[in-house]
Amino acid sequence: MLQIDIQTLSKTYPLYLGNGLIEKLPSIIESVKSNLSSVLIITDSAVDSYYGEAVVKAIETKFKVAKYVVPSGEHAKSFQHYYDCQTFALEQQLDRNALVIAFGGGVVGDLAGFVAATYMRGISFIQVPTTLLAHDSAVGGKVAINHELGKNMIGAFYQPEAVVYDIDLLKTLPEREWRSGFAEVIKHAFIHDEAFYEWLQQNIQSLTDLQDEKLIYAIQNGILVKASVVKEDETEAGVRAHLNFGHTLGHAIEAECGYGQISHGEGVAIGMLFAMKVSNVLEKSQFSVDDIAKWFEKFGYKTSVPNHLSAEKLLVRMKADKKSKSSNVHMVLLEGIGKPFVQQVEDEVILKLLNEELK
Ligand code: NAD
Ligand code: ZN
Repeated sequence: MLQIDIQTLSKTYPLYLGNGLIEKLPSIIESVKSNLSSVLIITDSAVDSYYGEAVVKAIETKFKVAKYVVPSGEHAKSFQHYYDCQTFALEQQLDRNALVIAFGGGVVGDLAGFVAATYMRGISFIQVPTTLLAHDSAVGGKVAINHELGKNMIGAFYQPEAVVYDIDLLKTLPEREWRSGFAEVIKHAFIHDEAFYEWLQQNIQSLTDLQDEKLIYAIQNGILVKASVVKEDETEAGVRAHLNFGHTLGHAIEAECGYGQISHGEGVAIGMLFAMKVSNVLEKSQFSVDDIAKWFEKFGYKTSVPNHLSAEKLLVRMKADKKSKSSNVHMVLLEGIGKPFVQQVEDEVILKLLNEELK
């Protein structure tokens, strides 16, 4: 079992990474939280069907435990499900010494984290991520639910007591979710760590390569990048914006295709390649984008904008991106691997490159 200490302004907490960690949960809970009254596990229906019983069984050896299951999928991050979690917690008479376990992917992490952040003005929580993407979402302390008017609009910065990442749980993850999560691993390498990027290129040629030691190494390094960016900029005033690499166009594609048609990571993969093209056109870099795209294709990513989309509509979405100031598009670009910067990009440049992809 590896331990990475995640440092933030408010506190430092351990992230454990390895196999067979569910059995170790009771002792980990004991080590991070004293005077514990009871445990509330919040999970989703898919994760519950695979692991719900095992996790309850492990924890109830030492603690009083209740479990609340939300439906699987992004819509669980709704005000209604948030409210229902709070109602359940109140009915269970959870007090301020209770602990919430967010047991699932990014959706459950964001929802359960926000429940913990706000129940009785905040109780402790532990992240137990079950997806590859959650190497990203479980680190950094951003927790949120969605509003009809925007994703992640209601939330908080709230750090967990610990993160327990048991890679055995990833075995049941659908291929599409591997692909979505791996895009964020690649992103972390691109924005911060050339050696890690080279390791990925040499060692990971298909999603099935993500197993055992290689999987642990990939997750560990992704987490180290995320953790170092968060340490520098916990509340997103500066460098944390670099985590948005690939996301300006990625989000626009996700929204234009209709959420669920293209996964978050698939959108980000196209967005990263696009951002590198922009970096090249602005003469900031000399990426061999075609070679990188060929590597991306091995994982089943689309490498250009789906051709039923319109460049003009994508541009409107890119301007609405919350990271863009005023009416101009601000993108995270790269001077090279590990050298990100934010720059305003003219509409004409974006439209020209988008239209080339859509030809
Ligand atoms: P998710 O939580 O919806 O999980 C993806 C799918 O896989 C779901 O259907 C889920 O039921 C299923 N699943 C989860 N674990 C499984 C397992 N072990 N075996 C089988 N099936 C499993 O999605 P995600 O991709 O993990 O996270 C996406 C969410 O994370 C988004 O809401 C996004 O906004 C959020 N996010 C948050 C941050 C942050 O910093 N807080 C960062 C990135 C993303
Ligand atoms: Zn993302």
